[in-house]
Amino acid sequence: MQSPFELRTLTALSCGCVVADFHARMMHVELVSVEAQGPHCELENHRAGQVLGLGVSDELDTHQLDMLAATQTAA
Ligand SMILES: [Zn+2]
Repeated sequence: MQSPFELRTLTALSCGCVVADFHARMMHVELVSVEAQGPHCELENHRAGQVLGLGVSDELDTHQLDMLAATQTAA
């Protein structure tokens, strides 16, 4: 059986957290979740396993991941 989610990239944010970018094979969307929390990160929404957002496949890049994290922080 093939997993419905494919890990595409791991990105280290400026706060020290690592976010994972998963591709949902069936839906052509990207799912971004926090894979590991940075030891000095104080952002409440940056917990391991926390989903930060969804995006359309191939439209997410590292810069957008950072922007996404920043947006979530402000909310
Ligand atoms: Zn963080």
